[in-house]
Amino acid sequence: RIVFVNGSYVPFEEANISIMDRGFLFADGIYEVSAVVNGKLVDNEAHMARLDRCLKEIDIVNPYSYEQWIEIEKELVKRNELKEGCVYMQVTRGAAERDFSYDKSIKPTVVAFTQVKNIVNNPAAETGGKAISVEDIRWARRDIKSVGLLAQVFAKQAAKEAGAVEALMVQDGYVTEGGSSTAFIIAGDKIITRPLSRAILPGITRLTVMRLANEKNLTIEERLFTLEEAFAADEAFITSATTFVMPIVSIDGKQVGSGKPGPLTKRLRALYLEMAGA
Ligand code: PLP
Repeated sequence: RIVFVNGSYVPFEEANISIMDRGFLFADGIYEVSAVVNGKLVDNEAHMARLDRCLKEIDIVNPYSYEQWIEIEKELVKRNELKEGCVYMQVTRGAAERDFSYDKSIKPTVVAFTQVKNIVNNPAAETGGKAISVEDIRWARRDIKSVGLLAQVFAKQAAKEAGAVEALMVQDGYVTEGGSSTAFIIAGDKIITRPLSRAILPGITRLTVMRLANEKNLTIEERLFTLEEAFAADEAFITSATTFVMPIVSIDGKQVGSGKPGPLTKRLRALYLEMAGA
């Protein structure tokens, strides 16, 4: 397995970074994930744009141009002969003597690696997955794809222990998003998802699913929705780079709709798979 560390492609076993890295000490960094299907990056331009925006938000100069990032991703896909899975990229502020404040001259640390995953033929997408709800205990800048993910570690571990595929995070009765996904519900012919704000990550898959739905004249409503509305919805699904469109068939043990992946959800998944070249 070949990984990328600070400009070099090295065997996984030889890759290392400093114990003083601010990503390690302060979670002072951001990450990005792009899916790979049939050896090709999916919707990658938008992921790279979000990476750039997140770096700006945390005052780190993007160490690479858009073209350089693409080259790193493609090189990793090639060297690891990746057919289906993802490329994970992380940029931290870099290594320096431990101090909360930072010197702008610190050189960012960049790591990137590939992971093999079943995305297209994911059995959970056929049957639909269970979800649980948890309180959203995260900070106030969830629009930044920060590597500080302890709240999501709690949420997703609780989901796993409950045999669920995702935890829906809830604040003041309203669903914010999934532990690592955007949440959608369908009521009648309306596809409902929360509008963008600092309360959620601007999902790239979210945006593309909305565009694909729009092209087919399906109705998207961007508004807050409660957990109660999700229980009562006709269909529910989550989206993310590595799950695409994943049907949710129960929440907290309550069946959603028919208890099977719904027709609109299936249609959106098919549209997304087509877009991804699956
Ligand atoms: N929301 C959160 C909190 C996430 O961690 C993720 C992805 O990991 C998403 C939403 C979905 O974003 P994307 O579709 O860009 O993968």
